[in-house]
This record gives sequence, structure tokens and C-alpha cells, in this order.
Amino acid sequence: MLKLLYFWVFIFILCGCVGEQKPIQKSSISARSIIPDFYEEYGEIKRGQGFFQALKSISIDNAVALQLINALRDEVEFSTLKVGDKLKATYNRKKELVAFSFSQNPAEIHTVKLNNNKWDYFLEQKPTFWFSKIISGELRKGSTLVEDLKEKGVDASVVADVVNVLLCKVNFRFHARTGDKYKVVLSQRMYENQTIETKVLYTSYDGKRAGFSEAFWYEDEEKGSTFTAHYTEDGQALIRSGLRYPLSSLHIRSHYGYRRHPVTGRRTMHRGVDLRGRIGRPVHAVASGKVILSTYNKYAGNKVAIKHRDGSSSYYFHLNARKVKKGDWVRSYQVIGTVGATGRVTGPHLHFGFKNSKGRWMNPMHKRMIATPKLDGARFLRLQEQIAQIKGHIQDLELSQVARYLVANIPNQKVEYKLRLGVDLPSVKI
Ligand SMILES: [Zn+2]
Repeated sequence: MLKLLYFWVFIFILCGCVGEQKPIQKSSISARSIIPDFYEEYGEIKRGQGFFQALKSISIDNAVALQLINALRDEVEFSTLKVGDKLKATYNRKKELVAFSFSQNPAEIHTVKLNNNKWDYFLEQKPTFWFSKIISGELRKGSTLVEDLKEKGVDASVVADVVNVLLCKVNFRFHARTGDKYKVVLSQRMYENQTIETKVLYTSYDGKRAGFSEAFWYEDEEKGSTFTAHYTEDGQALIRSGLRYPLSSLHIRSHYGYRRHPVTGRRTMHRGVDLRGRIGRPVHAVASGKVILSTYNKYAGNKVAIKHRDGSSSYYFHLNARKVKKGDWVRSYQVIGTVGATGRVTGPHLHFGFKNSKGRWMNPMHKRMIATPKLDGARFLRLQEQIAQIKGHIQDLELSQVARYLVANIPNQKVEYKLRLGVDLPSVKI
């Protein structure tokens, strides 16, 4: 027991309690017996820092960094990398990295551990719960919806979400009037006292000039589905026009722009985005057009390119199978092939590239993309179910005087709905 205490006191001294830890300097340690087998270095993503630089700050070189990114890229959404994300490196006495952890919120820690020269992935999830609240109000003279929501303590990113959804229906600049009414229902995922995720379940705006509009959050069955978004009651997407996503779920493994190549390790320009997808998953045309390329090459593997009406073109690489020929006309969302791992790749994914009408490569994620202009079939029915639940939920929230503590007040049925919407809710099992 005493030994353990000494060990922690030692670690405590080593850390200095703040900032990044330094590797043990052997010369500074007199008693050899208390050298721990492992030591850790901590870091976090700083402003303007990329993942490689952040890894360097905890003594991880580029070669190992590449291995880590490859081991984590299917699990971690690197596109949401933000200032303050936490990193931890564990080294052995030989100063070799044996484990690495990355977390974007305190409830989820992604870890890879070295095992026979391979990195094994683990996800540590802490119990979280969801709770809902309703925020409603009236625009006062000289005030805007943004200001009003911020004043009520709504986080800036959530305010942006609400406004973006309503913008499809309401022209705030010309049609907002004093006395216009709004309502927002948020579902917040909590870890201890911290909000780690917020969904805008519902939002409505009732304006003298703008008329009445409302939007409901629809959650598709598949995680990361591009269909998960806000819709009107009749299933219209709140963004009506845009490219269709090439895959039904979206997880970016690698971004557009300069990066270290996952195979060569060299710094190269990546002219597209790499999207995760299992082999055989359908790849859809992002817009209608004419197939200008359907061929194989040793880098891009099976590739298809489509020229669209406005002169822009879309590119799909590493396909397992190509389902269209050069010269074919394709409809928007038509299946043009399947996800594969052909060409120079580290694993199955879709490389999706986009050229503007002038023929210049651009970041396809800068294009407005939608899953569908209108939900139909099973998805439309699911939307109706979820709308009914959201409406019931709003009634409950409005009946309750203290929305914050509502979880205990609402009937079981509604809690089940929350359970279903949330990823996990272990602490509120009824
Ligand atoms: Zn790529």
C-alpha cells in the first residue's frame, strides 16, 4: 500500500500537476527501483494546430502519427477536431509509444494500444443521459432571434443551428417583426454537469409577416446517416436543393487539402475527401449528368466521373464495381458503383472529388449537400412517428413548470422515446 502511495507521489512530482509531462530523465532519478514501467504525456489541440502538430507536442513523430491516424480514422471524426480536444501518450521505459488516447469530450475516450506491432482500438464510454428543455419567446423591439436565444443562455453553435434551419423558411432580414413568436426544443446529452451534445428537436417561428413554419428533427436508423436532419411535417428537407450525398452515411476519413499521404507518408495535396464505407455499399451520383469516365488506373482504382449540367464534374475513386459506362446519362442519386479498395489505398473507402464549372478541383464539402429533397417510403413513416413523439414531448414540456427537471415528470412512454433518440442513457433506466 505504502509503495503505491510513493508511486503516486512520484508521478505527482513528475507531472508538476500542470501542463505537459516530460519524459523521465534517468539521470535525475537516484533510486532506480522506483522508475515506473510506463509514463504518460498529455496534450491538447491548440488554436491553428493540426493533428500531426498536436501529436508532435507529446513527442510522437510523423511515422507513428500516421499509424495512429490510420488506426483511428474509422472511429474518430477528425473533421470535428477542435481546440481543447485531449491527447494522451503512454510510453515504456525505452521511450516507445505503447498506447495513445484521444477524446473530444470527457465521456468518450478513443484508445489504441500496441499489440504485436498492431494497434488495437478500444472505446471507453462513460454513462451519459439526455434531457430536454423548451425555450420560447417573443421578439422584443430592436431584438433579433439570435440575440434573444443567446440572452436565454443558448450556446452560439446551437443558435446557429436553429437559425440555419429556420432560414430555409423565414427571411429574417425582411420579415422579422416585433412580437413574432418562436419555440425551440433542445435535447442535451449530459456527462456529469457538462453538455457534450445538443440536438435541436424542434423549432418553430410564428411571424406577422413571415407566417408560421416549423421543423422537426428526424433521426435515421443508421448512425451517421445523411438522412438525419430537419424536415417539415410533410417530409420536405429544410435545404431543398443541393448535391445528393454519394453515400447514405457520412464519415470523413481524410480531408481535402494538404495532408500526409496514408501510404507514402509524403506531404501531398489531397484533391477530394475520403469517405468511410464498407465494401459493396452503393455509391450514388451526386447530381444528374453524363458519365465522362469509367475506367481503372493503378492509383485511383476503378473510377467514375460525371459531368453535370452546370459544367461541374464529380469523381468517384477506388470503386469495387463500376455500374455505368462512359457516355451513359445518369439521374441524381442513381447507383453508379459500389465502395471498394481498388488502387493505392490503405482500406476500403470512397474518394470523392469535385471540379467546379471552370474545371478546378474544389473541396466537395463546400458544396451544399442534401440527403434528399423529400423523405419517402419507410423513412417518411418513421418521420411521422418521430413527429408524433416530439409533439407529445412538447406538450409535456409546456405543462411542466420546471422543464429542467422534467425527466422525472413525464410518462414512461416519453422517456422511452428519449432513450431511443439518445445514443445511450444508462443512468435513466425506468
Ligand atoms: Zn482520397
